Parts: sequence; structure tokens; C-alpha cells
Amino acid sequence: MVKIESVEELRKIKESDFGFVILLSESMPIIHTTNCKLIFENDFLQNNKIQSHHWFSTHLLAEKELGDLKSCKLCNP
Ligand SMILES: [Zn+2]
Repeated sequence: MVKIESVEELRKIKESDFGFVILLSESMPIIHTTNCKLIFENDFLQNNKIQSHHWFSTHLLAEKELGDLKSCKLCNP
């Protein structure tokens, strides 16, 4: 699991179009493809305290580490 620490890092990951971005908060983690339109840089900047962004190379790895994941309704990974 790689925690995304900066908005520049988030941007690079989105552009790479490889792997998955997981949003972690108090509810179930949500998994997105890296190019999902619902991953907003503004959310990253504003909500960093209540929700963190992480990157995984595969869906399986994310599941192994975090358990049950909720799939984003838009990108539906
Ligand atoms: Zn999504």
C-alpha cells in the first residue's frame, strides 16, 4: 500500500492510468481505477484529514490488505 502524500503525486498516478486508488475513511474503503473522474484533486486537498488516498497495483493486493472494498459506481473496477 502506497499512501499518496501530495496532489502532484495524485496527478501523476491519475496520468499513469495504472493500478487503483483507494479512498480510506471511517466507512468501507472505496476502490477506483486511477483515471476515474470521481477522484478530485480538491477533495484530496480539503479532506485529507478525514479520508486518505492510497495506491495499489492490483485489486487483489488491495483486498488482501484492506479486506472488503466497495467499488466505485462510476468506474466500477
Ligand atoms: Zn471511480
